[in-house]
Amino acid sequence: MTTPWGFPDFDAHEALHFVHDEATGLNAIIAQHSTHLGPAAGGARFWHYADPDDALTDALRLSRGMSYKNAMAGLPLGGGKAVLLAGEDHKKSPELLAAYGRAVDSLGGKYITAEDVGMSVSDMIEVNRQTKFVAGLPAEGGAVGGDPGPHTSLGVFLGLKAAVKRALGKDSLSGLHIALQGAGSVATGVALHAMAEGAKLSIADVDAGRAKKLAADTGAAIVETDQIMTLKADVLSPCALGAILTEQSIAALNVAVVAGGANNQLATPEDGARLMKRGILYAPDYVINAGGIINVSSEYLGDGDAAVVRSRIEAIPGRLEQIWIESAASGRDPAAVADSIAQSLIGRGR
Ligand code: NAD
Repeated sequence: MTTPWGFPDFDAHEALHFVHDEATGLNAIIAQHSTHLGPAAGGARFWHYADPDDALTDALRLSRGMSYKNAMAGLPLGGGKAVLLAGEDHKKSPELLAAYGRAVDSLGGKYITAEDVGMSVSDMIEVNRQTKFVAGLPAEGGAVGGDPGPHTSLGVFLGLKAAVKRALGKDSLSGLHIALQGAGSVATGVALHAMAEGAKLSIADVDAGRAKKLAADTGAAIVETDQIMTLKADVLSPCALGAILTEQSIAALNVAVVAGGANNQLATPEDGARLMKRGILYAPDYVINAGGIINVSSEYLGDGDAAVVRSRIEAIPGRLEQIWIESAASGRDPAAVADSIAQSLIGRGR
């Protein structure tokens, strides 16, 4: 029998909750990786998995990533993640979201949910009818809240600039070529910021309509999805899927910097070293893409206004710089350095 403990991505997760609701057909996994620093916080993903084992792997990897992300961002939160298994039609109903909300509520605040891929602000409103352990709700009267995407984009943009400064010695993106994988929420914000600074953009998205819209808004060139990873550019900014940096794809990269918002960009830990060996500067994903959870955290904990959120997001480049300095000094790749720091912060230093 395969148990969750036998999965390669099992990492001493504190608890895994398998949720089933007969009436609505909800099947979900709520993974609580660590509550060392506070309640396990992380978004809920609504996704169709051809193999349910892939859903468990996703929940295990994403929840560990949230522990690391929240710790590195200095937030008083642990790491968790929920995965809701969608059907092939990706249909979700208010009843299904209510069942999910009841499941979150039953954990009594050990897990705090929010949006992730496939979940929207309006979905969180439905979830909030059943539980108070939710963030990413609409901001009212100037309060902090709402879609985390634009905050993630700001942090990625600032982190990307820091990487450009370190790798290319440039203070501005003006005239630099940025290849963006994805044209969704995070990519759009990054593209708009970069465009305002005079960068030249190329984008690719499997959703042709999204690519077209972003191209129209930013003057970006549209590239085939199978060409964006090999495009000759200054920066590759992965803002779509995880596990895109593999032995093969890294060998074919044609950039000086990889800095983007997608979670779990490295297919394996060895891929961080492969990037370094090729002389490509990598911004560890969970450090550069923390802007959204920084906003979610302030919304949930009520510990800061928009200015405080912005100043916390503006700390992301400094954190990256610290990692790159330690990487250069130790010869360990930036992702490995970040993992070590994060593990110490959550009380699992080795
Ligand atoms: P999104 O759904 O708005 O956008 C993702 C886009 O990627 C979609 O337009 C999709 O069509 C496209 N895509 C999927 N497969 C692709 C492929 N093979 N090639 C090119 N494009 C492809 O999601 P988002 O909120 O922009 O998130 C993007 C990434 O950033 C995800 O990995 C997410 O986990 C991560 N992330 C998001 C946030 C946030 O606040 N939204 C925070 C941290 C991390």
